[in-house]
Amino acid sequence: MNDLNTTGSIVLISGPSGAGKSSLVGELEKNINNIYFSVSVTTRKMRKGEIEGVDYHFVSKDEFEKDIANGMFLEWAEVHGNYYGTSIKYTTDALKAGKQVLFDIDVQGHEQIKKKLKDITTSVFITTPTLKDLQTRLLKRGTDSSEQIKKRIQNAKNELSYMKEYDYFIVNDDFEIAKRQLFCIVEVAKIKTLSINIDKFIKIWSS
Ligand code: 5GP
Repeated sequence: MNDLNTTGSIVLISGPSGAGKSSLVGELEKNINNIYFSVSVTTRKMRKGEIEGVDYHFVSKDEFEKDIANGMFLEWAEVHGNYYGTSIKYTTDALKAGKQVLFDIDVQGHEQIKKKLKDITTSVFITTPTLKDLQTRLLKRGTDSSEQIKKRIQNAKNELSYMKEYDYFIVNDDFEIAKRQLFCIVEVAKIKTLSINIDKFIKIWSS
């Protein structure tokens, strides 16, 4: 039996911008069924090539602050001077539908999710082999100003000290290896006993 009727689970990915998280998440979306990528809300300016509703929901600072006041976020944080947050509604709808929900959020968001949804969350921290590699990737990407790159590098150094709080750690040196490792984590997260709908399973199992 492959369909264990899961109650839905979360795979939470963190790591510095430029570590390749978006490309890895893209591979998961392409290749794994029943997965839902949580599109965050942000006040950051849209980068070239980004699409509203696909990469983020882009809103103004005022709108974001209204949403905070109205309790619309499962978690939110200020990262590199911009707000980022995860909508409660879309996440709970996907979990209720038994989907595997993917989050790409920072270490502050991880802290908040762990407090609220620890049992059904599997977390993974992804980074580059060295800080220098990260710098090179950010420069090559060419989407950030030198001021923003400085902020991102500083933030990456701080974030790394939270690495031990995560269940798994991937160094994205060889993309294919990193991809395989992430696929394994996603597979394992699906069969975490706490995310299996036991009542439904027992009914099928004993019929
Ligand atoms: P970027 O501006 O490069 O897209 O993202 C910057 C950082 O914000 C990344 O580390 C990313 O994981 C984080 N981030 C994106 N969405 C969210 C969110 O909804 N909540 C939190 N806490 N962090 C987020």
